[in-house]
Amino acid sequence: MASRVIPVDPFDLVVFGGTGDLARRKILPALFRRFCAGQMEENALIIGAARSPMDDEGYRAFVSAALEEFNPSGISDTEAVAGFLRQVSYVALDATGTEGWQILANRLRGRDAVQAFYFSVGPSLFGALAEHLHSYGMAGQGTRIVVEKPFGRDLTSAKALNATLAAHFDESQIYRIDHYLGKETVQNLMAVRFGNMLFEPLWNSQYVDHIQITVAETVGVGGRGEYYDRSGAMRDMMQNHLMQLLCLIAMEPPAKFDPDAVRDEKLKVIRALDPVEAVDLVRGQYEADEDKPDYRSQVGDADTTTESFVALKARISNWRWAGTPFYLRTGKRLRAKVSEIAVVFKETPHSIFGPEAGRHRNILTIRLQPNEGMDLGVTIKEPGPGGMRLVDVPLDMTFAEALGPEAEDVPDAYERLIMDVIRGNQTLFMRGDEVEAAWAWTDPIIAGWEARGDTPQAYDSGSSGPEDSLMLMHRDGRKWREIRA
Ligand code: NAD
Repeated sequence: MASRVIPVDPFDLVVFGGTGDLARRKILPALFRRFCAGQMEENALIIGAARSPMDDEGYRAFVSAALEEFNPSGISDTEAVAGFLRQVSYVALDATGTEGWQILANRLRGRDAVQAFYFSVGPSLFGALAEHLHSYGMAGQGTRIVVEKPFGRDLTSAKALNATLAAHFDESQIYRIDHYLGKETVQNLMAVRFGNMLFEPLWNSQYVDHIQITVAETVGVGGRGEYYDRSGAMRDMMQNHLMQLLCLIAMEPPAKFDPDAVRDEKLKVIRALDPVEAVDLVRGQYEADEDKPDYRSQVGDADTTTESFVALKARISNWRWAGTPFYLRTGKRLRAKVSEIAVVFKETPHSIFGPEAGRHRNILTIRLQPNEGMDLGVTIKEPGPGGMRLVDVPLDMTFAEALGPEAEDVPDAYERLIMDVIRGNQTLFMRGDEVEAAWAWTDPIIAGWEARGDTPQAYDSGSSGPEDSLMLMHRDGRKWREIRA
């Protein structure tokens, strides 16, 4: 059974940066899949807009190549590809100049459809795009804009970006994308927490020992070295993706599943975070392995102190979480590509089985990748005679297995998020005040290590990160879960 397709209003979508890497890899394939699912009206316009001089035919060839590379299974349906390409066109324009803008405005004039503009360009162009959309009459009430990360590099720049966008758009028209929030499991986290009686009563410092969030990548910085070195793991991952996961895990139940109710609760979590002390922070840089260069040579700066790994202990000062630490880590060139959240419950207060049975904990693991799903580690009796020996086994719920073909048909994060933009549903998008609060928490952490002149600790490629990251846990009598696929 295919997953249910809910119709959306007719829409046109303009991708600024339509010839870029993100458009090619994610946005265009996502649109094609939604077209195949029947969520795009026949006369919907998909317009690529970028600097390169190109005509419609040239752009269709570009889109077709992108689909072939990034959606290979879909392109065997040649009729679908041809149908999609008929709706695709291109406008050459410069975000900062006047060329092309009138052509774009004419193409969209008089259309009775939601008009969405995806800003898939660097944030330095957001202001110019917003300004031009306004001056060429494309910033009406029905317009929605989608903006990519990075949303600023500190609180000051994030505030400036928010002010730039707010000059022409209402907050309800601005969709700040964090593709982690579009993942099926992330939303399932809310379903599990707030749709079951089982977990919520235990979801607090009385029963939860600690929570771990790991986002590990096996790749290095690759061709993005120059960009990455200006950012680092703290800005590139921690401030946004890990922070969003932390919010969903830690927030209070919203009164209803409504965009602002959910985002109000997430904001309260960020505002309740304590400052992170130096002793609770570890930064690392990967070393070379046999055939891959080290971080410093990949970014072309032998003295760079930017981190490719960061781990920290966060504390949330509120009634629910006081006393339960949240350990967060993310990095590149680690042992496996894994994103997971582990809720580690406390041991039972007393073991009736005696010391030889050992002490056991329940762990609820929420896997974002690989094998999206959850498992709950429970303690049972080891089978066989010879006394009461206990063993931990997983109650596994891999979605693909539990839900069958329906789970395999689940739209990817970009598909879901783009369709949410068309529906006008902002639940899975970051609000301006949320982003600012996240930077307000991040800035002093960065300022702290800059003032101390800390340098990142080296770690082996293919490892679990620097030694000090292990110590961050050992010191507290805890340990990280293994990073393994
Ligand atoms: P890219 O360099 O591959 O593409 C940039 C695009 O912007 C090109 O289409 C280019 O023609 C266009 N462009 C540049 N200057 C322009 C101008 N003055 N006027 C009009 N168009 C102009 O970049 P990308 O990797 O596609 O990333 C786009 C944005 O998305 C960036 O902000 C990036 O940080 C963000 N992002 C990218 C990824 C990714 O996987 N590539 C992931 C998350 C966020």
